[in-house]
Amino acid sequence: MKQQTLSMRLARVAAHVPNGARLADIGSDHGYLPLALISRGTIVAAVAGEVALTPFRSARRAVLESGREQQISVRLADGLAAIEAADGITAISLCGMGGETIRDILDRGQARLSGAERLILQPNGGEQPLRQWLMEHGYRILAEEVLRENRFDYEIIVAERAAPVQYSARELYFGPLQMQTRSPAFLAKWQRLLRLKQRTLESFTRAQAVPDAKVQDLGRQVRWISELLA
Ligand code: SAM
Repeated sequence: MKQQTLSMRLARVAAHVPNGARLADIGSDHGYLPLALISRGTIVAAVAGEVALTPFRSARRAVLESGREQQISVRLADGLAAIEAADGITAISLCGMGGETIRDILDRGQARLSGAERLILQPNGGEQPLRQWLMEHGYRILAEEVLRENRFDYEIIVAERAAPVQYSARELYFGPLQMQTRSPAFLAKWQRLLRLKQRTLESFTRAQAVPDAKVQDLGRQVRWISELLA
């Protein structure tokens, strides 16, 4: 079977999946990620979970066409309910959803987590509440990336259960490892966000009806970002 080509975003997610993993890709949509990883021999088995019927059918069709149905189980299920104990899952990917959605899927599905899985998360926004959940549930962030594709900034967060770790409010906001690494993509993302947030703050201060708490919260974000970039 020909090698599956992934977008740069999914290629970077794939790079964090350990060799020999048994992967559950939750919210798999078309199933591209497990198909590519199986066809490369990176992983030995996968579950592709989907809550919606149309993407579930599309993943099931793609897996059947690839002849990989012995290795990839496509399941119609809400979140981690797609995972069964017998799957022996060692890595879980949740990509292309809001950070709050990923957090809620993890929170609702805690009974399905053995605690030994690597989580490879690619939230579209909402990174702060997702990192907060990880910290509060005993996960340590092992790797983080920012990348830009098709004029969007994407973040990848890789976490595993470890000894309890305490992240500061700024680390939860920016990412503890990204704050140290300060990659060009990370700095460019926050430069863009700073301009946007400054403009919004100016419009808030001109408007009459914006609640004080909202103005103060945005003002704090602008200050934090300015200090990060200073
Ligand atoms: N993971 C793929 C990627 O990154 O390219 C697809 C991302 S797509 C934007 C998000 C997918 O997550 C949709 O197909 C949606 O149906 C699915 N999804 C959303 N909530 C879900 C849930 N609770 N359980 C399973 N799938 C879910």
